[in-house]
Amino acid sequence: MAQLITGIHHITAIASGAQKNIDFYCGILGLRLVKQTVNFDAPEVYHFYYGDETGNPGSILTFFPYEGLIKGRHGKGMLNTTAFSVPLHALDYWLQRLKRYNIACKAPYERFEQEVVVYFEDEDGLGLEMIFNDKDSRPGYANGYIPGEYAVKGFYNAEIWEEGYERTAGLLTEQLDHVLIAEKGNRFRFAATDSPGNYVDVVCSPDSMRGLSGSGTVHHLAFATPDKETQLAVRLKIVKRMLNPTPVLDRNYFTSIYFREPGGVLFEVATSGPGFAIDETGDHLGEALKLPEQFEPRREELEKKLKPVKFNDERYK
Ligand code: ZN
Repeated sequence: MAQLITGIHHITAIASGAQKNIDFYCGILGLRLVKQTVNFDAPEVYHFYYGDETGNPGSILTFFPYEGLIKGRHGKGMLNTTAFSVPLHALDYWLQRLKRYNIACKAPYERFEQEVVVYFEDEDGLGLEMIFNDKDSRPGYANGYIPGEYAVKGFYNAEIWEEGYERTAGLLTEQLDHVLIAEKGNRFRFAATDSPGNYVDVVCSPDSMRGLSGSGTVHHLAFATPDKETQLAVRLKIVKRMLNPTPVLDRNYFTSIYFREPGGVLFEVATSGPGFAIDETGDHLGEALKLPEQFEPRREELEKKLKPVKFNDERYK
């Protein structure tokens, strides 16, 4: 049977302020804002989607910025580190750029062969890494002030911490088409497709405290499935594993199902299409607030509640 899951689709995290979120991800990291919309389950809150030029699966990091929300805590049962893929020769460039904006980072070290890792955090404490490597053929998004040759190419991997890894590993390999491709110490790397952007590292971390939701933490990890038909097939497999998936929900740019994996991380399975160019053209992605049909009648009220944000700040050139 064809693969039902092809890799990572997106990662969604929680932030404490819309403007500083845009400043960090568009400004400092140079990602493209590919969609400006609202949380479909709480429309008074923005939902920002960042990614590569078109927002391809494997590059999409999204945020719910709840103004002033208290910080959460990293820990087991949570996706604690979101790692970006960058070219190996960009190491000095990024170390200098992070320093210029006073972002502390840990000294570079090699994790697996030919992967140089630099850990840092965003303004809310969200765990991030840049993985400097030479095996990613995806083009980075050249935003005009970060040269294309240094640009972030998308994700490299997602890192989840677990009490024990076996049950999560079982779900990944039996229901979600992943295979174990590497391991080192307490880190087990799985992938549905063996390429940067699709690695899921399960870190066995029984001694850490449980993670607590709040700003600076990840809400869920979404896997990509080709279409609605494969999505239903995955859903059936999740039902059979007794993990109570939600019905298929329409997220406008994809459809989704959600369920909690045995270790506590919220997983989603999202369709690869239709993508972000369904309600604005490719060269204007992210420029205007887009609302799904059900909230369009409330646009005036919602626009008043949402804090205005500005883009393209000169400080990041
Ligand atoms: Zn999602």
